Amino acid sequence: MNPPEHVQIGPHRYTLTTHVWPEDDHQVGECDKHALTIRYDDTQHRSQLADTLLHECLHAITYATGFSNEWGQELDEAFVCRFTPTLLSFLRDNPDLIRFLQKAT
Ligand SMILES: [Zn+2]
Repeated sequence: MNPPEHVQIGPHRYTLTTHVWPEDDHQVGECDKHALTIRYDDTQHRSQLADTLLHECLHAITYATGFSNEWGQELDEAFVCRFTPTLLSFLRDNPDLIRFLQKAT
């Protein structure tokens, strides 16, 4: 299964595209909040790709909520780095709750 081409984050529709950074960059993803794009390296392991995409979406969420402006880049990155693995595990480990949340409108 491939990642979607778009994600909706607050009022904004982000476009997801693949990108390959120079090897010495060690970068596998990037969220551009002004261009509304999330770029990711599609050559990484699928499990790592899930982490990368959630990480970049969380950057878009902290931007949309205004937290990233309040925290500054360093704290925003620290929050997103620490929060992503636990949130990813939570989403994977609780499919029944995720289905409920999606349909409980
Ligand atoms: Zn980051």
